[in-house]
Amino acid sequence: MSAKIIDGKAIANELRGKVAIEAKLLAEKLGRMPGLAVVFVGDNPASEVYVRNKARSTVDLGMASFEHKLPATTSESELLELVLTLSADLKIDGILVQLPLPAQIDPARILNAISPVKDVDGFTPLNAGKLASGMPGLVPCTPLGCVMLAKSVHPSLAGFEAVVVGRSNIVGKPLAQLLLAENATVTIAHSKTKELAAVCRRADLLCVAIGKPELVRGDWIKPGATVIDTGINRLAGAGGKQRVVGDVAFEEAVKIAGAISPVPGGVGPMTVACLLANTLRAAAMRAGLPPPQL
Ligand code: NDP
Repeated sequence: MSAKIIDGKAIANELRGKVAIEAKLLAEKLGRMPGLAVVFVGDNPASEVYVRNKARSTVDLGMASFEHKLPATTSESELLELVLTLSADLKIDGILVQLPLPAQIDPARILNAISPVKDVDGFTPLNAGKLASGMPGLVPCTPLGCVMLAKSVHPSLAGFEAVVVGRSNIVGKPLAQLLLAENATVTIAHSKTKELAAVCRRADLLCVAIGKPELVRGDWIKPGATVIDTGINRLAGAGGKQRVVGDVAFEEAVKIAGAISPVPGGVGPMTVACLLANTLRAAAMRAGLPPPQL
């Protein structure tokens, strides 16, 4: 039997449709379009593509996009000043600083300077703390997308044995917190976990965010489990072309799992859609309005 393929593009498009409707309603209430500022430092081509896509999507869904492209030589204090200016700008509801930053800039200092009410990536300590304490706040986009994909297969995750492989602050940890909030029984695995394959085999829901191409093999998966693959790994393909693969060996996993998100076309499209949803949430929250129905 072959697993159901979780269509991240279709689910992201559905969310984008809702965001477009809610953005229009919110713009009427605010008397201006909700606005997202994206800051990009340096000349990393992959980051440049992400930033361009985010800006285009923002405008497509009826929001204002403010792009700030700074040279690779930008100092920490220059970037800090820009982030503080954007944090105080009333037209801007969300601020995203594209990572990675050049070596002379400490990302933690920059992220900590983003106003928590505009922290649409959910990376500031305040929002991370709110998530851990079960308080409403802004939640990181990729984990939000992972949970939406899992819930597209299982509307209730209560009682599920969930294993999250990876414990980064941007994916693994917040994803585990979200699954806990969905009443799953959550195990977090990482590079020091013993018997990783056996731990993965316990999972009804296996979420993998490690950045290691196809590390998780088919026989690590419990038959019928749902697999969410966050990994984006670029490998050299035939004819000098790049090939993108996930952290899960898809061709093996698809024969064992009950449902699986592919790479590309799974978590990736959800991340941008969730960023735009978070921008609306941030705009509504700042204006004291109820959160949009997304
Ligand atoms: P990090 O490198 O920050 O974290 C990787 C995590 O995986 C760490 O917790 C690490 O453990 C763990 N790990 C690494 N190797 C192993 C191993 N052999 N066995 C078990 N655990 C291991 O990565 P991110 O969380 O930022 O990203 C993970 C993946 O998701 C990447 O491929 C990235 O490109 C992708 N990604 C995709 C996004 C999307 O939009 N689809 C957005 C963000 C990320 P330890 O803590 O012990 O070192």
